[in-house]
Amino acid sequence: MAIIITDECINCGACEPECPNTAIYEPGVPWKFSDGTDLSGDLDFGEGQVIGADDEMEPISDEVYYIAPYKCTECIGFHEEPQCAAVCPVDCCVPDPDNEETEEELTAKKDWMHAE
Ligand code: SF4
Ligand code: SF4
Repeated sequence: MAIIITDECINCGACEPECPNTAIYEPGVPWKFSDGTDLSGDLDFGEGQVIGADDEMEPISDEVYYIAPYKCTECIGFHEEPQCAAVCPVDCCVPDPDNEETEEELTAKKDWMHAE
């Protein structure tokens, strides 16, 4: 399950540098698959959906820090627990019920983003 930042975020910025997948962005800043990962070129998601690793993707929030769910692995492969939740002073990094994934799926996502 990806982690989501709620609107209780106070924009302190503490979580952003802690993310091993660079999945956390400042409000209003576009996200990219290539930021902090080994992804490059065209990424084929099937059914004709192709996204460039360097494409600027629409920010999910203009108000508070946000997490790109495609890139969040709950820190699997790097840390024992979600680092954003561990450092957040107001406990607003919580599991996202709309993005449920198994441990296997999260591990596969981590391996896909970071070449061995
Ligand atoms: Fe990044 Fe880990 Fe937080 Fe997901 S749980 S956004 S991978 S720090
Ligand atoms: Fe927002 Fe928490 Fe991240 Fe600070 S640590 S920017 S309050 S989500």
